[in-house]
Amino acid sequence: MSALDLARPEIRALAPYSSARMESSGGSVFLDANESAYPPFADRANWNRYPDPQPEALLQRLAGLYGVAVDRVLAGRGSDEGIDLLVRAFCRAGRDAILISPPTFGMYAVCARVQDADVVEVPLRDDFTLDIQAVIAAWTPAVKLVFVCAPNNPSGGGVPRSDIVRLAEALAERAIVVADQAYVEFADDPGVVDVAGEIENLVVLRTLSKAWALAGVRLGALVAAPQVVALLRKIMPPYPLPRPTTEAVLRALAPDRQIRTAARIAEAVDERERMRAALATLAGVQCVLPSAANFLTVRFADPERAFATLHEAGIVVRDVRRYPRLGDALRITIGSPADNRRVLDVLSRAGDPRPESRARMGAVG
Ligand SMILES: *Cc1c(COP(=O)(O)O)cnc(C)c1O
Repeated sequence: MSALDLARPEIRALAPYSSARMESSGGSVFLDANESAYPPFADRANWNRYPDPQPEALLQRLAGLYGVAVDRVLAGRGSDEGIDLLVRAFCRAGRDAILISPPTFGMYAVCARVQDADVVEVPLRDDFTLDIQAVIAAWTPAVKLVFVCAPNNPSGGGVPRSDIVRLAEALAERAIVVADQAYVEFADDPGVVDVAGEIENLVVLRTLSKAWALAGVRLGALVAAPQVVALLRKIMPPYPLPRPTTEAVLRALAPDRQIRTAARIAEAVDERERMRAALATLAGVQCVLPSAANFLTVRFADPERAFATLHEAGIVVRDVRRYPRLGDALRITIGSPADNRRVLDVLSRAGDPRPESRARMGAVG
């Protein structure tokens, strides 16, 4: 039994589309892919040519960043593509299921519904920690993928590395555990990317959209056993990675920029803790959930009013009240120090109508 036995048989048997770029080798005159013979009237000389489906230099750079072997890395258009590929490869329509722990990231359930896979829900505990025993107990043979969002969006809490490993080991040969670690750069816990694929049924999703400031570039990495990477590549479109994306990522992951990025992450973590303490003192704030990510989820006495007040001041935050047990909460991303001061300033004025304490609260932060 291997992790591949959990995949859809028709996908395992699928002969993938073979693109011109995959079949070509050598040569200097390329008349095999119906490309233009000329560079576009745009910046880059090679944009008339289809890109390498998985450029080696990009995979090497990502493998180095995450400290894993290069054959464990699948590069895609954000983690969102990884989620979609996993659901399509492992869940048979109308028969199989994924398991999620709400309140959590919405894309897992959306991708499952598109595939007509069922969604089994095992809620987080009241303190928003993952109930591993309940997840294991809820497993049925229909459940092929168990999504663990760590740190979790929208509640912000982490899942310790040892718990993710324990869960994957408990579900060995029964389900793929997908650890979505989009925010792990902001957490103390190192995450589990180093054991993704070593534990064969553990898949890790990482992204450059958050800590690496590249949301607009669209690049996510799926780290898994080589046979799982190979399976997913079969159903990926032939040219998933635009050349400009790969070029931008290679520039952004240059060693000197990695050092600067680490400093930015440290600043965001400091700001998060400062904001958490400052928000907790404001009138109108019920509590601020602990966060291992780059956002804070805040319970308000009057969330509607807090949202409107921020909005009137031009500050857009995420209304997460539709999520279970977050009916009074807003999710606020950690911005620049100036952005954060503004949030505190606006909320402190709104939270306390008494003019003398308004002045006092305005001093916070
Ligand atoms: C933002 C986010 C992602 C995002 O991914 P892309 O790499 O931008 O597609 C994935 N998972 C979670 C939990 C997120 O919050």
